[in-house]
Amino acid sequence: MSALAPPVVAIDLGGTKALAGVVEANGTVRSRVSLPSRDLVGRPAELLDRMAEGALSAATAADLPFEALAAVGVCVPGPLDSSRSVVAMAPNLGWVQIHVREELERRLPTKAVFVENDVRAAALSEHALGAGRGYDSTLAVFVGSGVGGGIVIDGSLYHGAHGGAGEIGHMVLRAGGHRCGCGRAGCLETLAARDAVGRYVIDEVARGHRTLLTEILNGDLLALTSRDLAQAIALSDAVAIRAARRSARYVGLAIGGVVNLVDPAVVVIGGGIAEALGEQYVECAAEIARRQILASAARHVVIVASKLGNDAGLLGAALTAYAGLASN
Ligand SMILES: [Zn+2]
Repeated sequence: MSALAPPVVAIDLGGTKALAGVVEANGTVRSRVSLPSRDLVGRPAELLDRMAEGALSAATAADLPFEALAAVGVCVPGPLDSSRSVVAMAPNLGWVQIHVREELERRLPTKAVFVENDVRAAALSEHALGAGRGYDSTLAVFVGSGVGGGIVIDGSLYHGAHGGAGEIGHMVLRAGGHRCGCGRAGCLETLAARDAVGRYVIDEVARGHRTLLTEILNGDLLALTSRDLAQAIALSDAVAIRAARRSARYVGLAIGGVVNLVDPAVVVIGGGIAEALGEQYVECAAEIARRQILASAARHVVIVASKLGNDAGLLGAALTAYAGLASN
C-alpha cells in the first residue's frame, strides 16, 4: 500500500476496553480514543454503537473529516466465519454470531468495514511493521491468557480453506492433559498460557518451594498476572523463572512442528507471558524449536521477540482495512 493512501480508522476491540484510532499506511498512529467495553458485555448493539461513535471521535481527534478516511478496520477477540464478517463467538464480550461488518457499515454508511480476529491482526502487524518486517513469511505466536498465532505468507495472512488457520494454541501436545477452554485436553494453551504458569507455581509451592509470588500476590497465587510474573523474574525468583521457562519449552515444541510444516522465514514470539521473561523466553523457545526442525536450512530460521506490544492490535486492524481495500 502506498504511503500516499488516505489514512484509515482502526478499532482494536477487547473484553475490557476498545481502542479506536486513525492510522496511516506506514503505521503512524494519528489519534487514539479509548472506549470502555466491559460495561457492555452481552449488549452487542450498544457496544457496536459505541464503536461507531469511537470511529467518528478518532477522526475528530486526528483533525480529519471522517469522509477523508479510506475505510474502517476492526479486530475482535474471537473466531470469525469464513467470510470474515461475522464473529462466531467472543466469550469475553458475550457475543454469539454477531454480524460485525454489516452492523458497523449500517452505523457508518459511508465506509467499508473490514474485520479480522485480534491475534491474526497482531500477526499481520508484526509481519508488516514489527519484528517480521522485511521477511517474506512470518509465523507469529502470542502467549498470554491464551495462546494464539497467525501465519503470513507473501505479505498476506493465511486464513486456510475454512478460515481456521493459525490456531497454534490448540495443538495437542500432551494426550490426556489438562482440559482446555476449547473443550479438548492437553492443548499447548493448557501447558504454556498464564493459567498453566500459575498452576505450575501452585504445584511448586505445594512441593515446599518458596517463591516471592506468594508475597507479591498476598497468598492468592490463582490471581497471577503477567506483570506479577515479570516482577518475580526481575528479582531472580527461581520458581517464577522455572515456570516461565516451562511455558517457553512447550511453545518451542509447537513452533518446531509448525516450522517443519510451513517453513516460515521468521518466527515472532510475543504476548504477556513471553514479555515477562523477555529475551530469555525467546531463546529458550528457540533452542527447543531448533531441536525439532528436520531440514537443516530451516534450523536457521530467525526466532525473535515481538516489537509492537500493545499497538499490535490497533495496527493490525488498520492493515486489515488496507488489505481489504486492496482486494476489493
Ligand atoms: Zn484447546
